[in-house]
Amino acid sequence: MSAWSARQRHQGSRIALVPTMGFLHDGHLALMKEAGRLADKVAISIFVNPTQFGPGEDFDTYPRNLDRDLDLAREAGVDAAFVPRTEDFYLQGFDTFIDQKKLPNHLCGLSRTGHFRGMMTIVAKLFNVVNPDMAVFGEKDFQQLAIIRRMVADLNFNIRIIGHPIVRESDGLAMSSRNTNLTPEQRKTALCLITALKTAQALMEKKEFHADILIHKAKTIITAHPDTSIDYIAICDPDTLEDIPFVDRPALMALAVTVGTTRLIDNIRLTPAQE
Ligand code: AMP
Repeated sequence: MSAWSARQRHQGSRIALVPTMGFLHDGHLALMKEAGRLADKVAISIFVNPTQFGPGEDFDTYPRNLDRDLDLAREAGVDAAFVPRTEDFYLQGFDTFIDQKKLPNHLCGLSRTGHFRGMMTIVAKLFNVVNPDMAVFGEKDFQQLAIIRRMVADLNFNIRIIGHPIVRESDGLAMSSRNTNLTPEQRKTALCLITALKTAQALMEKKEFHADILIHKAKTIITAHPDTSIDYIAICDPDTLEDIPFVDRPALMALAVTVGTTRLIDNIRLTPAQE
């Protein structure tokens, strides 16, 4: 992978990297197409990273289909796919991790201990191997994107980080590899995530700015479905991810909900209308 990158760079090509865990869907492919618009060569990585899964999480059941992924990536114009084997990428004795204090201490970080530490470590390793000029990440994992921007600034990675808006199914469900683990009934239930977010947005348009009221309404919508369990619903500052009590400035509403046994996340911007 490094040799490929060095060759491209030597020829004056700019490289964009799109890191993924595979089982590609149109959300991933949109990131790859954006990468192709911005750079001369597109590299992706496909790696289900064990260090970002906690005990009891879905590492073993995470969907995988490498042949299909490589076909889809090729069709999307990807030039190189880096698919390391775990034992080659985490050599025996591996013992170095990257951590951050503040941003991981919110939202998903509160229930997924060690997740962002594993995520930052693997992204840094991918950056070092691929040596891209830029990297594209989805806003669906909003906290991940914020943490990577911080890491890149703090550790002097000379890599431009590009955020891509959430890609949704036609009925509004945020695309996710994990959606394939939902039964048809759970797939319908999963729509309550976007319904809850949209309802909060609509309430704001009616001048309801109290975060606790907006969150309460969202909770009511989700708990109406018996097969759901809420991890969090938060309204926060998009830069610091700190909770904000009153939405008098642009905010992020984010949630994580388990539907059946599948943990889903989604988010939406809340922007108070200008008077
Ligand atoms: P994953 O394979 O889930 O680790 O995702 C790889 C990249 O694709 C991450 O940057 C995700 O944020 C991004 N991504 C996943 N789903 C979506 C989506 N529905 N819309 C936009 N980006 C996404």
